[in-house]
Amino acid sequence: MRDVVLLGSTGSIGSQTLDVVARHRERFRVTALSAGGSRVGALAEQVRAFSPRVVAVPSAEAADALTEALGTDVPELRVGPDASTELAGLDCDVVLNAITGAAGLRPTMAALAHGTTLALANKESLVIGGRLVTSAAGPGQLVAVDSEHSAFAQALRAGRADEVRRLILTASGGPFRGRTVDQLRDVTIEQALAHPNWSMGRVITINSSTLVNKGLELLEAHLLYDVALDDITVVVHPQSVVHSMVEYVDGSTIAQCSPPDMRLPIGLALAWPDRLPDVAAPCSWAEPTSWTFEPLDDETFPAVALARRAGAAAGTAPAVYNAANEAAVDAFCDGRIGFLDITRTVRTVLDEHLASQPDVPSEPGAAWIADAQLSIEAVLAADSWGRRRAEDLTGKETT
Ligand code: NAD
Ligand code: MG
Repeated sequence: MRDVVLLGSTGSIGSQTLDVVARHRERFRVTALSAGGSRVGALAEQVRAFSPRVVAVPSAEAADALTEALGTDVPELRVGPDASTELAGLDCDVVLNAITGAAGLRPTMAALAHGTTLALANKESLVIGGRLVTSAAGPGQLVAVDSEHSAFAQALRAGRADEVRRLILTASGGPFRGRTVDQLRDVTIEQALAHPNWSMGRVITINSSTLVNKGLELLEAHLLYDVALDDITVVVHPQSVVHSMVEYVDGSTIAQCSPPDMRLPIGLALAWPDRLPDVAAPCSWAEPTSWTFEPLDDETFPAVALARRAGAAAGTAPAVYNAANEAAVDAFCDGRIGFLDITRTVRTVLDEHLASQPDVPSEPGAAWIADAQLSIEAVLAADSWGRRRAEDLTGKETT
């Protein structure tokens, strides 16, 4: 029996995780749940169905609403902005971090510090924390939930680390694949949210349309599997069946394939290194099928190339890449900027960050700090600065 702490339980990954747990009650027990507080009704339903010992919400209002929804059967409540981090440090077998965005960093560090296996959906925490996260993780402690990275983990079982030549990271290309820059100028939020293959949370869906998600995943793969950025190739594969591949030195390429369904990598991460039976439908070979591949159009979708720059600099640069993007996605969703302005904003903020010197007095977080001097505080300061700078550039009213 594995005791699971699930952070971000009401989201897309969170609810699919509970779906996997519900079908394997003989293997998993939910110790604790945390959620952001916007869907208290859904959280109350989860509490009723899985009877966690502890539940975390970020505010007193959310706690009151949850208590009211639950009536008499209220578990122990942790309340406040650090509540998810407290949960990540509880005794359990696996923490699954499915929070969105930089808010996942402290919970990620807390789970690693406690020595618990961390099933990581929240790629942002790994990307922005960089070497701080990887060096806090013991061997095998970090397990990928992201489908591409789960595919790498599976394909890497086929050979030794010194036999790997490169990683092939597949990308669906998102809803705007094949378009030119001109054709992207006036796309709407509804169009950006219409992902062809996956149903996901808002931020990752927009990130899939700009390919910022693939930029984050490039850095995630580099950090998880210690492969140089130049040895990771992004390839567009619109069907999202080949979830990624590993090329070995002899010229062999090993792919992991399954119809798009996040429950597969979630199930494997929860049970790692074991496979659970019948988690998702396998590929069907009854009809003619084609899987296609094409190179990424870096000119129309500069997000991956920008991520390479941030990753090559490392230190606080990936935190700024991510923070500027999160603020720019908000600006796009609020109608303050156009679609192309999302990656333009990320580029401008990242350029400013990389150009500013740590010894010249400036705003906290503005100056780039290298890996050797990196700390959680430096990452969070860069995150705040990147967010604020992107908000300035995108005309956010300050209150
Ligand atoms: P989502 O927006 O659907 O869900 C996010 C969850 O986190 C919600 O439960 C929300 O209440 C909670 N949350 C947000 N801020 C919080 C905070 N400060 N404290 C506690 N909880 C908070 O997002 P999602 O699509 O489920 O994605 C979650 C993570 O998984 C992201 O990092 C995303 O990149 C990654 N991921 C998602 C998918 C997918 O298919 N959805 C695939 C791969 C990776
Ligand atoms: Mg992915």
